[in-house]
Amino acid sequence: MTARNWRRHASHLVIGLTSVLLAGWLSGEPVLVLAVASFCYLAWTVANVFRLYQWLRSEEGKIPESLGMWADIFDRIHELQKSNRLQQEKHQSVIQEFLSMTDAFPDATLVIDQNDCLTWFNDAAHNLLGLQIPEDLGQPVTNLLRDPDFADWIAVGEQVQTSFEMASPADGTIRLDVSIITYREKQRLLVLRDVTEINNLEKIRRDFVANVSHELRTPLTVLLGYLESISDQCPDDVTPVISKMQDQAHQMQGLLSDLLELSRLQSAEQVSEDQSIDVPATLMQLKEQSEELSQDRHSFKFSIEPGLFLLGNAVDLESAFRNLIHNAIKYTADGGEIAVRWESTEEGPTFSVQDTGIGIPTRDIPRLTERFYRVGSDRSRDSGGTGLGLSIVKHVLNAHEASLNIDSELGLGSTFSCVFPVERTSRPKNARSEG
Ligand code: ADP
Repeated sequence: MTARNWRRHASHLVIGLTSVLLAGWLSGEPVLVLAVASFCYLAWTVANVFRLYQWLRSEEGKIPESLGMWADIFDRIHELQKSNRLQQEKHQSVIQEFLSMTDAFPDATLVIDQNDCLTWFNDAAHNLLGLQIPEDLGQPVTNLLRDPDFADWIAVGEQVQTSFEMASPADGTIRLDVSIITYREKQRLLVLRDVTEINNLEKIRRDFVANVSHELRTPLTVLLGYLESISDQCPDDVTPVISKMQDQAHQMQGLLSDLLELSRLQSAEQVSEDQSIDVPATLMQLKEQSEELSQDRHSFKFSIEPGLFLLGNAVDLESAFRNLIHNAIKYTADGGEIAVRWESTEEGPTFSVQDTGIGIPTRDIPRLTERFYRVGSDRSRDSGGTGLGLSIVKHVLNAHEASLNIDSELGLGSTFSCVFPVERTSRPKNARSEG
């Protein structure tokens, strides 16, 4: 109600009251006239309140007609109702648009509350996971997606960063990649993408590489055998050619065995069964191999914490450690120093190899674990590298939930550290001490 209307109503009230007082004075019964007038005014007010109540109760009722202040009140409420209705329609159309958009998503999308109970899901969730409305709403998501690994994964809550792969509960042949997004305090979005096709293509690619590598191995072995026998009898001027052929064939053999190793690791991304690995003993064996490979060109320092065992896969871990030590030998000039450490730190059991070698430019460090990535193709090929060593290391570490840290300065040396989760520490009863 505007100030002008208030003034109008106030003046009507004053005129009314003055008239009542005048009528009372003229009639000689002022009290009675005032009482009758007050009663009439009260009755009119109560009647309007009642009409207002009735009108508000009825959804689509016609606006009641009245006089004065009450007519203004009815008009104002009517205006508010109209603008509310408009707002509601606007919100409704936004919600409708959002729902049709999320239903068009090919990925199953689920909203879960702080207790991991399902509060909403889209059409794709119905198709991919077989979820039903309203039966499944309000159910714990772990009851709907029954997989013990999924339950463990989601239990980590806010800290969940990496995605998780599982079979669809509606169809076991469908593989789903699950990721979680926290979008409001205690509200989370689960996005499940069908990765069956991608996985199949990846498997075809892996099998192809593994088969080709495997098929090439036999002819290469035969070739190396012939080269070996020719090298003993060939004339002196041909010897460098044969030796070059032998080097190249050995390089190719290394490449094939790295490719096979990598495809084996990729097919078994998760450590199948954890065993308590005697890492100190493994490293003592690697020490001997490294000294043989180096042939006194480098000085080694092995600092190994006795009795620090690790839960994991022995073959894979040995392969990762060997790759890092061999890289240090390959990329450190004669006379350089190589320090190998195995110790428990605050972050967890840590294996590190530090060298005083040629180092790596900072810009190349993030890409080192990519397949076939070489800092400078010449320096790697000259040293007999395949470009797959650090990819193998990265795969092994991923399967052990470990991280690889690379610290290097060009011309001064590098440090490669593998940090394992504390939970993988294993302490045998009779710890061995070697170093
Ligand atoms: P490669 O078999 O060619 O050594 P890797 O994947 O093991 O392949 O290493 C990738 C690249 O990282 C190598 O080409 C090399 O340039 C660089 N590199 C790896 N380790 C070291 C190191 N200890 N010092 C210097 N450069 C290194």
